[in-house]
Amino acid sequence: MTYHYDPTNIFARILRGEIPNKTVLETPHSLAFHDINPAAPVHVLVIPKGAYVTFDHFAAEASAEELVDFHRACAQVCAMVGVAPGDGSTGKGYRAITNAGAHGMQEVPHYHLHILGGRAMGPLVLK
Ligand code: 5GP
Repeated sequence: MTYHYDPTNIFARILRGEIPNKTVLETPHSLAFHDINPAAPVHVLVIPKGAYVTFDHFAAEASAEELVDFHRACAQVCAMVGVAPGDGSTGKGYRAITNAGAHGMQEVPHYHLHILGGRAMGPLVLK
């Protein structure tokens, strides 16, 4: 499988420091920041720093170190923004979504996980 990564996409520009972001967490291989147009009271995007287009691209080609770093960053973000519903937390839960390609209606072609919470999120998808 060949994936074409466009280095001019907006998240690549955020990673290069060309445009600002409201950072929640930065780790060696990942960055989490608030979505500019939040769809819920909590709406954080978690992205790998590497040049991956989609979830499947990241899952197929990222190193073990990148994969672990990204998922640990997601867990940390859920705890930091107060949505993690695990033992010992007051969080009420969240929805983690990733869009890929045309049918996924992905706008920004750099892999990102949306972490949405702060209210009940409703049905999974429109039918
Ligand atoms: P997608 O549709 O690709 O899954 O989601 C892209 C998300 O990126 C959208 O929720 C949109 O609001 C967010 N977004 C687009 N441009 C920017 C930006 O410049 N800064 C931030 N923080 N979020 C952005």
